[in-house]
Amino acid sequence: MKGTRSFGKMGKRHTHIRCGRCGKPAFHVRQKICASCGFGKSAKLQCKTHPSE
Ligand SMILES: [Zn+2]
Repeated sequence: MKGTRSFGKMGKRHTHIRCGRCGKPAFHVRQKICASCGFGKSAKLQCKTHPSE
């Protein structure tokens, strides 16, 4: 095993894609929020994730 134990669960699915602002693969696909720069946190870009609520 070569390190990166904390990333063991990453890679199976596309949880993060490349961010349009910072360019890092830290943009969460479902949350629409970049974990690195916070891009997508603004209310305008937030879609209704839970329509029933
Ligand atoms: Zn970003």
